[in-house]
Amino acid sequence: MSFNIDSDIIDINNRLLDNGISFENKTILVTGGAGFLGSWVCDVLIKQRAKCICLDNYSSGLNKNVFHLFDEKNFRYINHDISEPIYFGLSNHPYGICIGDIRKIDIVMHMASRASPFEFKDYPISILKSNTLGTMNALGIAKAHNALFFYTSTSEVYGNPPDDMIPTPETYFGHVNPVGPRSCYDESKRAGEAFIKAYELQHNLRTKIVRIFNTSGPRIRYGPEFGRVVPNFIHQAINDMDITVFGDGSQTRSFIYVVDEIEGILKMVHNDNAIGEVINIGNEKEYTILKLAKIIIELTNSNSKIVFKGLPIDDPKRRSPDLTKAKKILNWKPTTPLKEGLKKTIEWFKDQEKEKIDE
Ligand code: UDP
Repeated sequence: MSFNIDSDIIDINNRLLDNGISFENKTILVTGGAGFLGSWVCDVLIKQRAKCICLDNYSSGLNKNVFHLFDEKNFRYINHDISEPIYFGLSNHPYGICIGDIRKIDIVMHMASRASPFEFKDYPISILKSNTLGTMNALGIAKAHNALFFYTSTSEVYGNPPDDMIPTPETYFGHVNPVGPRSCYDESKRAGEAFIKAYELQHNLRTKIVRIFNTSGPRIRYGPEFGRVVPNFIHQAINDMDITVFGDGSQTRSFIYVVDEIEGILKMVHNDNAIGEVINIGNEKEYTILKLAKIIIELTNSNSKIVFKGLPIDDPKRRSPDLTKAKKILNWKPTTPLKEGLKKTIEWFKDQEKEKIDE
């Protein structure tokens, strides 16, 4: 079996259409549009006949995630780092580049940022910039076009919540180390949220913040520099390498398949009741990392054995979203069982490994 991403894109589109959601003829700027989640958003928007502007500098996004869209008349790719100023339409700004022929943007989706803990040590400054200066630049575009502003924040803003805050509601303020190895990401995402609230307050901008929980699926980056747990374990399992569980594996995460996540995100973008709101989108069901390793070994029929390595500093002990708000406001909840999502991801990984051998 080989994995076909198109059927998943059609599935998301159908889920949206069933709820009367269409972005047809809207012009939507997606920063980080060549990344894992951004490229799924671009695919669905093009399927929906929206005009999609994908802004990415391929720092962690990949050309191959969006290359198939380059011939679409509604798709435009702009190679740019959103941490640097950029303007669309009329602009008298003395610095930054201006894309003069794009006159009107309806929605800005600011999704650009590296997100893997493995990258935090190599790219902390660029991560901080995407979520602070990048958010400010993206907000400036939304303000100039009176566009809706949508920000992909993260469960990391909650840091390491105590047990009585699991599942974690949006009202929880967080328990975050401002000077730890993860601070370039979690503190900059928190600052990004503060920027958004400032623009909302001062300029009456329409804004929405989604807090995304561990998402995986086709196009998630893998390899030693990107190693999030799902791609790492799958890569190790299909190559019969040792599965590296950090700590004793009792820490938990709750995993959502990319199709459910993108459906939730686009439902939120579309829903006027979500204006001014912060909403968790993820899966409530918690798994220990050790259990995840065992499930992946089973699904891949692997001979890998589990080995235990040191737990990274400030690694959150438990993570699970309270989805009450998402269910109430968006009429959304995840529907793909963990094993089903993992099976598709495994098939996609096998295709990737095969492509590498064929090259
Ligand atoms: N993890 C692991 N082995 C790996 C990669 C990650 O045990 O090869 C653990 C990591 O320490 C964390 C969990 O898996 O407890 C999820 O890590 P990930 O990097 O996917 O994202 P996080 O949720 O920490 O942002």
